[in-house]
This record gives sequence, C-alpha cells and structure tokens, in this order.
Amino acid sequence: MRLLVLPGDGIGPEITASTLTDLRTTADVYGLPLDFQEEAVGHASLNQFGTTVRPKLLEFARSADGLILGPTATFDFRDPTKGEINPSAFFRKSLDLFANIRPCRTWPGLPQKLGAFDLVIARENTEGFYADRNMAQGNSEMQVTEDVVISLRRVTRRACTRIARVAFELAQQRRKHVTAVHKANVLKLGDGMFLDECRRMQQQFPGVTLDELIVDAAMAHLIRHPQDFDVIVTTNMYGDIISDMTAEASGSLGLGGSLNAGDDYAMAQASHGSAPDIAGRNIANPFSLILSAAQLFDWLGRRKAEPTCRDAAGAITRAIENAIAAGEITRDIGGRLGTKETGEALARRIEHERN
Ligand code: NAD
Repeated sequence: MRLLVLPGDGIGPEITASTLTDLRTTADVYGLPLDFQEEAVGHASLNQFGTTVRPKLLEFARSADGLILGPTATFDFRDPTKGEINPSAFFRKSLDLFANIRPCRTWPGLPQKLGAFDLVIARENTEGFYADRNMAQGNSEMQVTEDVVISLRRVTRRACTRIARVAFELAQQRRKHVTAVHKANVLKLGDGMFLDECRRMQQQFPGVTLDELIVDAAMAHLIRHPQDFDVIVTTNMYGDIISDMTAEASGSLGLGGSLNAGDDYAMAQASHGSAPDIAGRNIANPFSLILSAAQLFDWLGRRKAEPTCRDAAGAITRAIENAIAAGEITRDIGGRLGTKETGEALARRIEHERN
C-alpha cells in the first residue's frame, strides 16, 4: 500500500512527522506493507514550484491507496492565478471526497466538562457555502462593486442524498440515531431539500431514528447535553463549525480527527488548521492527525476487505486511549510531552501492546 503524504503548513510538518513515526511502527507490528510518498503542498510548494498544489499531485493521489494531508494555511491563499490554490478544497473536489467524517468523543483521563459523550459528524464536503469549490469553473463569490460582494451557495439533491446515506450507514453500526442539523427555517429551499433527502433516506433504514434540529439550537443542545447525539448529518459549513466546537468540548482541537471519503478515494486530514500561533515549537498535539490516519486505515480495511488494516486502526485508537490515561500527552490536554515525544511514546505503546 502506498500513501501520499502532504505535510502542509504551520504545525503540519511537526504533526505529520509524529504521525509517520506511529504509522511506520504500526505497519511493522501488524505486517502491513506500507510505503509513503511525501510531497510538498502549501507554502513549501509555493516557494519551490510557484504553486501550492502541483497538478501532478492529482496523478499521485489517484494512483495511491490513500492520502494524508496536514493542515494548510488556506487563509493565506487568495489568488489561484498566482498559484495560490487551497490544497484541501483541491483534493476534496478533484477526488470527489463527498463525505467528511468527524468522530468526536471524550477520553478517560481528561476532564469531561460536559460529561462523557461519543458522536460523529457526517458533513457534506463538496458544495454548500464553500464558493471556492461549488462551481465547475470559477468561483461563486464575486465582487459586484467596491462595496458589494455576492457569495452563492450550491445545494444539490445528489450531494444531500449521498451524505444522508453515509450518516444512516454510520448510525446503523452505532446507536441508531441520526440528527439532521439545518437552517430550513430561513434557507427553506436548500436546507429544505437537504431535510427532504434525510427523511427519504430514513425510510431505507427503519431501525434508525431521525431527529431534526435548527443549527443554532443544535449548538445549544450540544453544549447542554452532547450525550443525546449519535450521528449528526449536516451541510458543509455547519459541519465545519460544529466539529471544532465538539472537538474542543472533548478536550482540544488537537483531538479532532477526520476523514474525507468518496467512493474511490479517501484522505486523512485533521479537523483543525495550521495553528500558526504554536507552529515550530514542538507543542502541537499530533493525535488529531494520527486519529485521522487510523480512520483511513479503517476505510482501507473495509474497502480492501483486509482485516489487518482494520485491526491496526483499532490498535492505534486504543493506544491513544491508553496514552491519554497514562498522561503521555501534549500540553493542550494537560500533558508535558512535545509533539515528537508524544509520537514516540505512542509508537512504543503500539509496539508493546501488540507483544
Ligand atoms: P486553527 O484550527 O489552526 O487553530 C485554532 C486554535 O487551535 C489555535 O489556538 C491553535 O493553536 C489550536 N490548535 C489547532 N490545532 C492544534 C493542535 N493539533 N494541537 C494543539 N492546539 C491546536 O485555526 P486558525 O488559527 O484560525 O487558522 C490557521 C490557518 O489554518 C488559516 O490559514 C486557516 O485558513 C487554516 N485552516 C486550515 C484548515 C485545513 O487545512 N483543513 C482548517 C481550518 C483552518
């Protein structure tokens, strides 16, 4: 198996290095034939090649078994005509990674300010308010005059159906409860269609219940009682916002793992950004990207009917659980280890727990 690894900006190279330490150990311990092809994206690529994403990375991505993308400084990349392409949007759109799966749970050993919870967000990943990726050509955000900007949102029945199916399939393996989060009281057509598709999908999964919440109220319910949630299905921007909140509620954004998945490709990518405020200091939490990589292993295991891959995914998650309980963690969640040392301690744990 070959994984394309794109370390990205800010804390990206640090958390990617720790992730690779742990994946190499996991591959050794579980006998997985794993190769990594590392390529530059973001500022490193812009400096070297004049673009944040070289076109040939798409060929590499299509021929690889999966991708690992570190966070990138997307806010800095404003003008695609100058090579400033948003790498995350580029791969999500080009590889049709329509589902962004963001699990979020509390961890024994960490303070649980809102009590214990375990939920997963299924976020539509290719359209909605994200103007830089919801058109076949160009961008749906435009400046009409010096003082007027229009940003268009795209909602398609196909995308709503696809994400609804992912949510119900997830719920079927979990606690059989989907909550559709929307703003159909205002966006009656777009979010109305999204709700229609969630309701229609529910009919194919009679064992799974469907609740509906307006997004603003959903945030209040999540803070009040996150235990009430199992699978949240929602459109692109709400999912992005809610998942940062739930990751932080679980302990830290540095625990926010996420997988971008389509029918043919999948990309592990932490929920958070490039964290320039802590970059280069060896203090970022690598667990977000390591958990994302575990999700990728699980996806690969299912896709290739390869149980060892799924075992390895489970082992990484258990090792993180035990590392957290033992306090082998970074300071955002109350530990004293650096990014590198956290990755190394986790690798030892993965090794010992198998033996
Ligand atoms: P951010 O998510 O990078 O950081 C928010 C806060 O969380 C910061 O205080 C940061 O230090 C902390 N944090 C994030 N990851 C952490 C980790 N692993 N361990 C410990 N603390 C962590 O948000 P931002 O600062 O607003 O954005 C920085 C850049 O990232 C911007 O250019 C933004 O556009 C980009 N961004 C990229 C992605 C992506 O690549 N998927 C996602 C969100 C933001």
